[in-house]
Amino acid sequence: MRVFIGVTMLLLVLPKVGFQCLLAWYHQKKITLYVQQYAGKNMQRLQHRTVTVANTALSDIDTWFLYLKGAYDLIGPHPIEFEAASKLDRDKRTRLNIAPGIISPFQIKRVSGIAHQDENQLACDFANTATDLRRVQIFAIWFLQRLINSAPRGLYAPERFKLLGVTLANLSMREAVNRVIKSLNRTPILGDATRFAFVNADCANKYSRDPSYKQTLNEFDTVFADGIGVKIAARWQGIAVAENVNGTDMFPLLCDELAASEKSVYLLGASNSVVNKVAAKLKLEYPSLKVAGYSDGFSHHTNPEKLHGLINQSGAELLLVALGAPRQERWIANNAPYLRINAVIGVGGLFDFYSEEVSRAPVWLRELSLEWVWRLAAQPLDKGARYLVGNPLFLLRAARASRDSKAIRSEIKELSNDQL
Ligand code: UDP
Repeated sequence: MRVFIGVTMLLLVLPKVGFQCLLAWYHQKKITLYVQQYAGKNMQRLQHRTVTVANTALSDIDTWFLYLKGAYDLIGPHPIEFEAASKLDRDKRTRLNIAPGIISPFQIKRVSGIAHQDENQLACDFANTATDLRRVQIFAIWFLQRLINSAPRGLYAPERFKLLGVTLANLSMREAVNRVIKSLNRTPILGDATRFAFVNADCANKYSRDPSYKQTLNEFDTVFADGIGVKIAARWQGIAVAENVNGTDMFPLLCDELAASEKSVYLLGASNSVVNKVAAKLKLEYPSLKVAGYSDGFSHHTNPEKLHGLINQSGAELLLVALGAPRQERWIANNAPYLRINAVIGVGGLFDFYSEEVSRAPVWLRELSLEWVWRLAAQPLDKGARYLVGNPLFLLRAARASRDSKAIRSEIKELSNDQL
């Protein structure tokens, strides 16, 4: 099998590289051989040579030679440079127990915008636990991603962009977590909380029908871009979304940081049993994280003053509000003026997932950006309209908006050409 795949790939790649070199030679462009040292299985030193034309690498022939020699596998951890590998901590060296891969688990997560975990950790997990089934899964996902998810060229990545009238921040997950943590580094002042929200396709449908929700979101300090729908809609505007910043993936990273910086959190939302479970699980998983207090999301609707008192007296620095969108954003807008807290985040169904009351999609579905299919299958009555009607409606709205903005852009261009 290895010989068949290796020889086939070389037969495809070699003529292409040969032709590109001939062209470069004809046009008198500089052709060089760029050599890098990679770490193979058990720190075997691998020479990786890449042909470059005018400093741009051509298709990688050497990878396939190394694959034929057995130094690379088709699926495995992302290759790591020898220097970097020799500096790895002891516990991260298990990634070197197996050969590096041409297709890596990290790579498919990056394409889906969910590569939030440390790459070394992911590589070690793969080396320790990967089965043949997982390898087949990764290959199939990589193949499907190339078919449906390949990023078009010429996209730009602004710091912020507008999605159907709401300004979203274009951040990686790490940047998003850092932004939240940074907002906690001050003494809390009454009514001065930094406000964060997530917007996905369903939220965009809701605020397209409800101008007050749209306005509320635009008054928030940062709105994160959540999900594949937002990514597709942004792409139609020529914008590359940095990463899928959703609450469920952000939560463990945030908890790590909160625990390390000894910040405290108040949990508000979901049923009494769910929020209880969340608090108990947090204490188990992050012993140094301070849960200053928690309340369910139903019993305080008629007595908000009591809740303000509970939150303010708890001394929490961060408040997570899990009432679902747009209820939670409205709650934040109406109640933040009475809270002495540094930051508030609207986190939707996060507590249901973290408490395992509602199961999360398996990794391979998330890697295919199809988490919504799982939610639909789990709660067809609740979520049917949201996904089966909402998703096409959102794409229609986004397509219309991108067509309109293109028309406006070309009108402006024509006007400025006329003026010249
Ligand atoms: N919820 C709540 N109080 C309410 C209504 C809803 O605490 O008055 C909770 C509900 O129990 C659930 C969450 O809000 O945990 C909504 O989850 P959903 O998945 O609908 O939110 P989304 O992520 O879609 O915004």
